[in-house]
Amino acid sequence: MNQNLIPGHKTITDRTRALAERSANCVVCQRARHKQAGFAFWVVRTFEGLCPFCRAYEQVYGRKSHEPVPPGPGTPQPG
Ligand SMILES: [Zn+2]
Repeated sequence: MNQNLIPGHKTITDRTRALAERSANCVVCQRARHKQAGFAFWVVRTFEGLCPFCRAYEQVYGRKSHEPVPPGPGTPQPG
């Protein structure tokens, strides 16, 4: 077992990752992240603190479930 216990870092378990995947693939959460407005955005922003998937998402990805996904390297830029 390779355990990285970094001070100040929470250990992210497989279970947390699995929960975060649910939010990453969640239709409502995806819509909120993409549109940054509207009903889905409002719902996610309001309830992400209660949703176990959204909370796991925040731990794994380091941002709130409603926050936009930053373009990563290799990601095709729109426009
Ligand atoms: Zn959620």
